[in-house]
Amino acid sequence: MLPDRPGRIAGEPARTIWLPGGKRHGTALRPTRRLHLVRRQGERAYGGAIFRSTAHSERLKRSAELLDFEIPYSVAEIDAAKHQVLERNAQKDAYVRPVAWRGSEMMGVSAQHNKIHLAIATWEWPSYFDPVQRLKGLRLDLAQYRRPDPATIPAKAKAAGLYMICTISKHQAERKGYADAMMLDWRGLVAECTGANILFIQDGRIHTPTPDCFLDGITRQTVIELARRRGIEVIERKISPDELSKFSECFITGTAAEVTPVAEIADWRFKPGSITKQLMEDYTAEVQPRAAAA
Ligand code: PMP
Repeated sequence: MLPDRPGRIAGEPARTIWLPGGKRHGTALRPTRRLHLVRRQGERAYGGAIFRSTAHSERLKRSAELLDFEIPYSVAEIDAAKHQVLERNAQKDAYVRPVAWRGSEMMGVSAQHNKIHLAIATWEWPSYFDPVQRLKGLRLDLAQYRRPDPATIPAKAKAAGLYMICTISKHQAERKGYADAMMLDWRGLVAECTGANILFIQDGRIHTPTPDCFLDGITRQTVIELARRRGIEVIERKISPDELSKFSECFITGTAAEVTPVAEIADWRFKPGSITKQLMEDYTAEVQPRAAAA
């Protein structure tokens, strides 16, 4: 089956619109699982407005460039198309996933002349983690695999290939009864979770790993800004796992995870406290669509 031929991938609800032309086809999500040439983006709409849509579209374009291809649509066109898909699917609170991938004109390693495709899917996805577990604080395992050295792979691209180790790690954690896993990086330093960034609190200050070999999440950036607005100091630095016993609170951030407290990571324990709760509330307020300026 050729994954880029519209209409030949069947069996999924029609919730995808392909660009250009706004024609509905089957889904574009399946080929993304088969091919590791695509990059995927996760965004959320609240009340019909995609939170930081333009920042996500810019990241999509940047990630494609890191994978050596150019998406043939502008950021403004991608923003407009995402909005159009949401409207056509009549969804207000939804997950939005654009995927870009190389076609199959050339089937070898070289893909210089392959057409670049972009599809956008949206679906309702209320809470990434079980809401009860979320409030109590998640239990995280320590992942077997590490975030790779940026000298071996474009680690900052949101590329499907980089998610192999995330999926394996999440599966292993879930089989052991954990909600997710924290990953170390190639140097053995604390990195992030399988689909979210991680932040810790010690003596009223936030400490979070410098995103030098993993995604500097848009939620992470938003939460850092929210914390600083409240006068909470945020320190980005290298964090060794030995330090985890010194932190009192821990939470993760991501478009799907939003701001979610963590209660355990392997043998380390944390107590969701006032700063985490404050930032959960601030983030919930921040993502609400703003009334259009008069
Ligand atoms: N790291 C990884 C591996 C992710 O998949 C995600 C989710 N997209 C994040 C971090 C958080 O990024 P964002 O806040 O932009 O969703």
